[in-house]
Amino acid sequence: MRRTELFTKTSKTVPGDEVAKNAQLLIRAGFIYKEMAGVYAYLPLGKRVLDKIIQIIREEMDAVGGQEISLTALQQKDTWEASGRWSDDVMDVWFKTKLANGTELGLAPTHEEPLTRLMRTYISSYKDLPVYPYQFQIKFRNELRSKSGLMRGREFWMKDLYSFSRSQAEHEKYYSVMSNAYDRVFARLGIGDRTYKTFASGGSFSRYSHEFQTVSEAGEDTIYVHEAKKIAINEEVYTDEVLADLGVAREELKERKAIEVGNIFTLGTKFSDALGLHYTDEVGEQHAVYMGCYGIGPSRLMGVIAELFADDKGLVWPDNIAPFKVYLVNIGEQGTRMAETLYAALQSQGTAVLYDDRNERPGSKFADAELMGIPYRVTASDRLFGEQKYELTDRKNGAVTLLTADELLAKLR
Ligand code: ATP
Ligand code: MG
Repeated sequence: MRRTELFTKTSKTVPGDEVAKNAQLLIRAGFIYKEMAGVYAYLPLGKRVLDKIIQIIREEMDAVGGQEISLTALQQKDTWEASGRWSDDVMDVWFKTKLANGTELGLAPTHEEPLTRLMRTYISSYKDLPVYPYQFQIKFRNELRSKSGLMRGREFWMKDLYSFSRSQAEHEKYYSVMSNAYDRVFARLGIGDRTYKTFASGGSFSRYSHEFQTVSEAGEDTIYVHEAKKIAINEEVYTDEVLADLGVAREELKERKAIEVGNIFTLGTKFSDALGLHYTDEVGEQHAVYMGCYGIGPSRLMGVIAELFADDKGLVWPDNIAPFKVYLVNIGEQGTRMAETLYAALQSQGTAVLYDDRNERPGSKFADAELMGIPYRVTASDRLFGEQKYELTDRKNGAVTLLTADELLAKLR
């Protein structure tokens, strides 16, 4: 893509009320647009990053048997009354609205109830189980505070997978398969080393649930990390009893600020009992379906990654989620000819390149390349025309190398 075709612009200023570093940088670099607190639009660069995060999660969910669906945002009251979660006293984040005829509706903050209800149409026998539907969807939550940019939206992207199993034993097997899939997702996103499987409260069907917490100064949670065992304990269950149960000592743990990027939770038969989701086993006996739910926040992840890797010049994306791999800059007339040739060659070999063909000073193009966090900047200039070389600059460490077109194409393939 050419910069002259990209409709967004970079900016030195941000909305005065934006205090979160991730949102400040993403707004300045033209990745997102702030509609209001906790509500952001994704612009071309931001949409590319979000889609790449989603694609990594999708591949890992498909690898463990996930079947992708898309449920509705508009929700009917009686589905949620069945579980007792329609009441604002029980679920305090509801956005509610009405049909023209006065019928009350809600905007889905999560999807246990509607999916459990939907599955009644398709699950009746043990032969129909287990099954693992999932989706990527915008959730709506009237969060009390929304000052952390993409990390806490009032409208945000969630991946939610729900497992429907025949028994607790079958559920537990899948639960650990999913836990491993989560490890792979966070490793692929470049935050595996600082993301801890964290013991949290489990509800009525299991002792613990597990949160995946990424250590970050911008985090809103406090966890206690055991580095050697690569686990952590959430503040809410940080008791002597739990420490003993997990075989860890207080002295071995470090208090850290962290942000929950995902969680896995045993639901048991809470929702299948409430909404009447049953199956008949091999001998004709009826049982409630045994459930689990598994959330990840793709938009929160985008904020976390933006914030964690940023430096004083701007964003620094890992290669596999960067909106483009290469930011190409032309300087001078002969440099422009070299840039045009390379642009065509990069495109034909499928390397995603943003070509800053604007009539701007080199310094401001370099600054934009850095602000946007594109992994590699390639400069084609009159100065290196004689040698027919290009300058390659690595965004992560600033290392500069001079390469021929062939060498560059091979390196950036
Ligand atoms: P938190 O304790 O941070 O509010 P939660 O327990 O409400 O999170 P879940 O309901 O389990 O979160 O949602 C699943 C995932 O969705 C979370 O792990 C997180 O990554 C993401 N998520 C939850 N709330 C938000 C939000 N307001 N903005 C962005 N992402 C969110
Ligand atoms: Mg919440």
